[in-house]
Amino acid sequence: MKVPFLDLRKQYLSIKAELDKAWQDVVGETSFIKGRHVDEFEKTFAQRLGIQYCIGVANGTDALYIALKMLDIGAGDEVITVANSWISSSETITQAGARVVFADIERDYYCIHPAALEKRITPKTKAVVAVHLFGQACDMSTLPAICRKHRLHLIEDCAQSHFTEYAGQPVGSFGTVATFSFYPGKNLGAYGDAGAIVTNDEALALRMRMYANHGALFKHQHKMEGINSRLDGLQAAILNAKLPHLESWNEKRRAHAAHYGGLLRDVAQVSAPQARPGTKHSWHLYVIRAQRRDALRQYLQEHGVETQVHYPTPLPFLPAYAYLGHTTSDFPVAAAYQREILSLPMYPEMTEAEIEFVVAQIKSFYSRG
Ligand SMILES: *Cc1c(COP(=O)(O)O)cnc(C)c1O
Repeated sequence: MKVPFLDLRKQYLSIKAELDKAWQDVVGETSFIKGRHVDEFEKTFAQRLGIQYCIGVANGTDALYIALKMLDIGAGDEVITVANSWISSSETITQAGARVVFADIERDYYCIHPAALEKRITPKTKAVVAVHLFGQACDMSTLPAICRKHRLHLIEDCAQSHFTEYAGQPVGSFGTVATFSFYPGKNLGAYGDAGAIVTNDEALALRMRMYANHGALFKHQHKMEGINSRLDGLQAAILNAKLPHLESWNEKRRAHAAHYGGLLRDVAQVSAPQARPGTKHSWHLYVIRAQRRDALRQYLQEHGVETQVHYPTPLPFLPAYAYLGHTTSDFPVAAAYQREILSLPMYPEMTEAEIEFVVAQIKSFYSRG
């Protein structure tokens, strides 16, 4: 048996007729930029999250950059984000002109540690980019209160957490603004790059919409200079076709996570991930911690199981951030987990037999001693 890390073709085939109609409509109508598919997606996505405004943009990285920029974050400001994430969470802070400040992760849930975050706050801090990593909700009982207390904008990076819930409320609806990525491999994935920004702040929504479209809400009426970051019609139509399936896909991911968890319970060398209590995890990634991780990964590769590491190097230790001069003792948890974390195959269309096969290979690796 071979178990790929992700199989996007399987998902395409499962709703082929809907997807084919979607892109054929766009081509037939030549509604390539803006148009009804984009309008429909923005409306439905906002409604589904219970948030007032949604702005489709070119990708999840631009979404963060636009949000930071339109919150007037720039030179002289500091923005705190998490030590373990994809680099978009931090590079956009620099792009906006501010200084990146990293905080360590939680031991159990892999998201930003509220106490570590609070220690990094200075008079220059303007915002926090909280990443609901792997589909896990951040500690939303604490983060919004910390941000209110210190008058910081809370920006939620929901690129990996479409429809994740904290206490019955979807993530993305807790902060000033939230951003989504629809990169093909995300829980809701387009067939190319795509992203969105959501907020309940009407003035901010207008500014972000303008900035993403060359500073103009209407053609040739440029109120300011902006950038070109639009969600295109083809991607919006694909997203519209997929959106009605997202909840059931997430449900399947939860079932797979439960199955993995049960099977891994008696593997002493592996620590299985847990959903934070009171949340609905969307399991974008299923990240275990494993003894002898690199040898296990190699063994799994040789036995047909594809895995990945998210992420091989915590952000502060990348060459890109060498200028910050951090050492491992600044982020003890992220530094320790760097050598243990391993992402197992996880996607809705997986079968139980595939999950059992993956765990059987893990067990056979450790039983060899
Ligand atoms: C994927 C991702 C992004 C960026 O999204 P793109 O659409 O690829 O630009 C941002 N943050 C996190 C945590 C991500 O996983």
